[in-house]
Amino acid sequence: MAITANYNAAVPDEVVDDAAEAGPPLEAPAEATLEMLRHSAAHLMAAAVTQLFPGAQYDVGPAIEDGFFYNFRLPEARHFTESDLESIERRMHELSDAQIPFERDALSKAEARELFEKMHQDFKVDLIDRMDADVDSVGIYSTGDFVDLCRGPHVAHSGLLKAVKLLRVAGVYWRGDERNEQLQRVYGTAWFTQEDLDRYLERLEEAKRRDHRRLGAELDLFSFPQEIGSGLAVFHPNGGLIRRLMEDYSRERHEAGGYEFVNSPHISKAELFEISGHLQWFAESMFPPMELDEGTHYYLKPMNCPFHILIYRSRTRSYRELPLRLFEFGSVYRYEKSGVVHGLTRVRGLTMDDAHIFCARDQMMDELTSLLDFTLGVLRDFGLSDFYLELSTMPKEKAVGTAEEWAEATEALSTAARGRGLELVLDEGGGAFYGPKISVQARDAIGRTWQMSTIQADFQMPHRFDLTYIDAGGAAVRPIMIHRALFGSIERFFAILLEHYAGHFPLWLAPVQCELIPVQDDAPEVIEYVTKLAELLRAAGLRAGISDKTGERMQAKVRDAELRRVPYVVVIGRRDVERSDDVVRVRDTRKGSQEDIPVSVLIDRLAGEDRERRSS
Ligand SMILES: [Zn+2]
Ligand SMILES: [Zn+2]
Repeated sequence: MAITANYNAAVPDEVVDDAAEAGPPLEAPAEATLEMLRHSAAHLMAAAVTQLFPGAQYDVGPAIEDGFFYNFRLPEARHFTESDLESIERRMHELSDAQIPFERDALSKAEARELFEKMHQDFKVDLIDRMDADVDSVGIYSTGDFVDLCRGPHVAHSGLLKAVKLLRVAGVYWRGDERNEQLQRVYGTAWFTQEDLDRYLERLEEAKRRDHRRLGAELDLFSFPQEIGSGLAVFHPNGGLIRRLMEDYSRERHEAGGYEFVNSPHISKAELFEISGHLQWFAESMFPPMELDEGTHYYLKPMNCPFHILIYRSRTRSYRELPLRLFEFGSVYRYEKSGVVHGLTRVRGLTMDDAHIFCARDQMMDELTSLLDFTLGVLRDFGLSDFYLELSTMPKEKAVGTAEEWAEATEALSTAARGRGLELVLDEGGGAFYGPKISVQARDAIGRTWQMSTIQADFQMPHRFDLTYIDAGGAAVRPIMIHRALFGSIERFFAILLEHYAGHFPLWLAPVQCELIPVQDDAPEVIEYVTKLAELLRAAGLRAGISDKTGERMQAKVRDAELRRVPYVVVIGRRDVERSDDVVRVRDTRKGSQEDIPVSVLIDRLAGEDRERRSS
């Protein structure tokens, strides 16, 4: 099954595994962990909420990346407001000052059920009712009057929960199912020290400033017209230009890398996805079928793999053709729940830079190694340089392919990874059942980690589609397939770059690379000079624009170009023209510096920066 990572995913689905609450309390480790601290803060928040909102019911409240949340149902369907968050936070600080111990206890299921029933905590009663029959003892933690069903572990007392901040409220469906009632989820964060908390809040602010949805609108790059539907973007001319530059460069590299370009349609009969197994495993993420031609079901494709497989299978393949590397910018459609659709990072229509490589088993090692180099090389050209790799190995329960195939592929991936001198995180047993996977994680300019490319070996699809090639001895042999998406989806990669650069794309990707500003836009000699200079820049292959803020002051024109993140601005006034030495004043808006240089130097400099794809 070629359902590798969800290339589309930006944030993990925060659907809570509430079965984790079943069982006796856990031993606390000698040293408190951030996770313990955050989950303890979730308890403290629920304690504050139940004090301030008598009758409030609490559902589940785990620690998550960078923080915690708790889901609530308030009496009379009340909603939390901004000022509620402030008072809850204030109460949490009071409870913290009181240094209330976290006390644990183990009860039988029946005792615990009775306790929570008496407290009218329906969610907890339900949790207990859904526990497996063999669970006999459950954990109970109390912080003052607040009692929760929980295995812990927790910090010793609430006095340790000082660096705490509540962040926002969101409506969520109970147990992540949209047929259920909506609960209110309060998100917060907790850290060991105030400095850590401050640094985190700063990072959040910076992330907000860089939010691609905001920059996308400000810079007129893309939008999501309501008439089209949730999670379906249109790219405007400037966004379309950046996207084309990304795609062109990718095509260039793929061509040089020995890939062949293919195309496939956006829809297919159900049969194809039955053979591939997508309808069995992935149907929930697919758009519902269209019924055509008297009862035949057609689906929008969620993946490109089966199409490329059919191209491979369209005729007999010889060992001489391998490795066969097929590449396509393939648009796919996935039904994402409306609650998780997010900007360009989680959409319903996306284009993958998708490659499938068919190779002989003894080619797999070389192929995986060169794939990793290729992938890292292209990512570096886009200005990402801080990587680590994650290797997901054979799952314990179930796996297709022989043990040797797994061992070989895993070995190949880890050898390739180690050879690159990058940090390698092992996700033992975390692979899909059809093959091991390596994913490239990149840290962006503000230290956030994004899963980028994935390289996935697949022992299963070749079986499902009965793929073969004829080896040197004339025998039909099963090839191995490798799935590889480099950007993941173009939409998501676009968003990541936009946030990484905070809109200041490197010159080679900037829609306007150099803006010319006539100081006196009513002086014919200035206009003539500026027009000629624009032509010179364009003749050198550069994207030059002339300020259209006619009649405005020079400063306003410069400011306008800066806001549109134009990397270079050249200001030309009457005196520059009269001097006739072809020296112009160039401003680098990213550095905030300016200098006077001859036009020929300007053109060489910009052309060089463009050609070399420099990122700063
Ligand atoms: Zn707990
Ligand atoms: Zn694939």
